[in-house]
Amino acid sequence: MWEYAPAPESRDIANLKPTYRMFVDGQFVEGSGEPLKTVNPGTEEVLAEVSTAAPADVDKAVKAARRAYDRVWGKMPGSERAKYIFRIARLIQERSRELAVLESLDNGKPIKESRDVDVPTAAAHFFYHAGWADKLGYAGLGPDPRPLGVAGQVIPWNFPLLMAAWKIAPALATGNTVVIKPAETTPLSALVLAEIIQQADLPPGVVNILAGAGDVGAALVSHPDVDKVAFTGSTEVGKIIQRQLAGTGRRLSLELGGKAANIVFDDAPLDQAVEGIVNGIFFNQGHVCCAGSRLLVQESVADELLEKLHARVSTLRVGDPLDKNTDVGAINSREQLTKIQELVETGDAEGAQRWTSACPLPDKGFYFAPTVFSNVSQAMRIAREEIFGPVLSVLTFRTPDEAVAKANNTPYGLSAGIWTEKGSRILWAAQKMRAGVVWANTFNRFDPTAPFGGYQESGFGREGGRTGLEAYLDV
Ligand code: NAP
Ligand code: MG
Repeated sequence: MWEYAPAPESRDIANLKPTYRMFVDGQFVEGSGEPLKTVNPGTEEVLAEVSTAAPADVDKAVKAARRAYDRVWGKMPGSERAKYIFRIARLIQERSRELAVLESLDNGKPIKESRDVDVPTAAAHFFYHAGWADKLGYAGLGPDPRPLGVAGQVIPWNFPLLMAAWKIAPALATGNTVVIKPAETTPLSALVLAEIIQQADLPPGVVNILAGAGDVGAALVSHPDVDKVAFTGSTEVGKIIQRQLAGTGRRLSLELGGKAANIVFDDAPLDQAVEGIVNGIFFNQGHVCCAGSRLLVQESVADELLEKLHARVSTLRVGDPLDKNTDVGAINSREQLTKIQELVETGDAEGAQRWTSACPLPDKGFYFAPTVFSNVSQAMRIAREEIFGPVLSVLTFRTPDEAVAKANNTPYGLSAGIWTEKGSRILWAAQKMRAGVVWANTFNRFDPTAPFGGYQESGFGREGGRTGLEAYLDV
């Protein structure tokens, strides 16, 4: 077999600095929290020290956002706001290589994904929303829909730059100002986005970017002068926030976890389905809220599909996130790696059959080999809980009704996939599936024009598309 020669992207492109500061009221400032060290999960090396917020800094940022809203941004015509948002989009494109390498260093995702998915999709979100800024009266939300005010936003570590774009772009387009907190393990790309925002000459205070851990997020979402909270993260924290905001009249949207069913019917083109299954669960190490983590296969094709799947997964290259040949990078943190290991052990203990790719793993860094569990039953923890790692649970079904019943047997409801040759079956199953996004003969396709969001414990509110504007408008 041919071996690939290593093809690493140079880490110099990331322009790493030894220290990073927070962005408040148009300036880079020292926070009064304890500085944090962000780590490269691919090597366990410290990348940089980042200054973090204390509650008083959160208050300063919210005040800056309020001033910017009252004096400038809330009154600015949409056609003017659009120019700034376009500029941010263009600057993301200009600095795309730097952002991609930085994202792979801080998060552990393969460079081919940060380069081809995260960064271009982040730019696309700004472009798309720039286009809406002067057309809000035509969005079907009334002739002159008004912004809400100051948005407090908290995002997770799995798509650090992209989640920042999903949050900031619609808020700006609709005339809101922003205070956002990236995750503790991945603050760097958001702080480079702050440089871009400064380069774009956005008026001071319109976007403020804090750093820190969950306590900073908690101080932000519970700040009384925040009009709207947007949170992406775990269902557990989502529930805490919902309780805090109940009765305050402040608006909330939540994008939480998932346990998506990816259903393969017996008439599906199996080789194509295998590619979609692999993309569904091994993209971004499976750190994807809408990952296709429960594969439901029609019994008559299950053996053939599993054999093809094992053969394909065996070819996935796991290792250095900066290597352009890497398919599966590093797990984002030691904590997440431990969580994956523990859940996988419950799969063994509950009697599922574990298959693990024999791929070599680097000696240093946090890595987990792609894993497929078969003989999984619905009651097992690996079929019910979000693993958030490169681990697939395979269940089987006999009839389409059984497939849909099993797919919907989850407290979540973020996404689902259907693989079949029959268009009528796609429409039938999609209608019955309790999931915010249903992909047919594809998986994990993201586009700023398509609303994304969940049912049940996956949260509420939509991001993207015309519907996503509603989350930031007083309608
Ligand atoms: P998490 O603990 O909920 O963290 C998400 C964010 O919230 C982080 O910035 C975190 O800060 C902050 N945070 C923690 N406690 C908080 C509190 N009490 N109040 C306010 N903010 C708080 O989730 P995670 O484990 O890092 O991320 C993985 C989870 O996110 C998965 O369950 C995944 O399904 C979900 N997710 C959902 C979507 C979606 O679109 N639906 C997208 C991505 C991820 P620190 O990180 O600094 O602790
Ligand atoms: Mg990191």
